[in-house]
Amino acid sequence: MKIKRYKKVNRYLNFYINNFGFRQPYQILVDGTFCLAALNRQVNIADNIPKYLQSELKLLTTQCAIIETESLGPSLHGALVILKQYALHKCGHEGKPISGAKCFHSMVARSNQKHYMVATQDRELQNILKTLPGVPILYLHDKAPVLMEPSRTSMLKSEANINERVSVLPTEKMVIDKLKEGSGLANEKVEKPKKRKGPKGPNPLSCKKKKPKLQSSSVNEKSEKSNNCKVKRKKVRIPKHVKELLLNKSDS
Ligand SMILES: [Zn+2]
Repeated sequence: MKIKRYKKVNRYLNFYINNFGFRQPYQILVDGTFCLAALNRQVNIADNIPKYLQSELKLLTTQCAIIETESLGPSLHGALVILKQYALHKCGHEGKPISGAKCFHSMVARSNQKHYMVATQDRELQNILKTLPGVPILYLHDKAPVLMEPSRTSMLKSEANINERVSVLPTEKMVIDKLKEGSGLANEKVEKPKKRKGPKGPNPLSCKKKKPKLQSSSVNEKSEKSNNCKVKRKKVRIPKHVKELLLNKSDS
């Protein structure tokens, strides 16, 4: 069961690595809901998430997420303490904070260029993030961290990327051809020595086939010289004893 779980998370991570350029250390945006769930379920985020992803990562948050958690009162004090341990990433709402969900949404909105993963228990936020391509979502299922299966939007985007890559090839070829022309490489190809056409020796088809000769081997040598076609023949050397045997046979 456990191995299956790790295989799954590896597959999902590889999907984001290959299609959206994610690299370790992964940057994980954590909100108050995730911290609260972790606290209630006695899950140590800093220990469990790297173990689960088998990767190096950075736990991050934003000023908006902290202010929101703070505003919810003493019941979230524990979650706030955890959240405040994480590095603050600038979200652009400094001075006029917005809700944590809206803030995280804005952080990943532009093709998630900074390759954030989002750790949240907020279902509404999860659903919004699923409509954006290339945003990995982490949540806690009971005590276990879970990386959500890549959303349909992410799948479609990765397919579109692959198609784009293929369709770019002809234009790339045109650019390469132009560069070749400029550098004179294109002419070199034309100037390549051509293969010599036609046979070097006499046309084997015009040569008459030698008729099998019934004469003895000693006469053969003379007749070969008189032939116009200079086809080299391997001289078969017959050992003396064989010769003798053959001659004896023909005599008898
Ligand atoms: Zn913000």
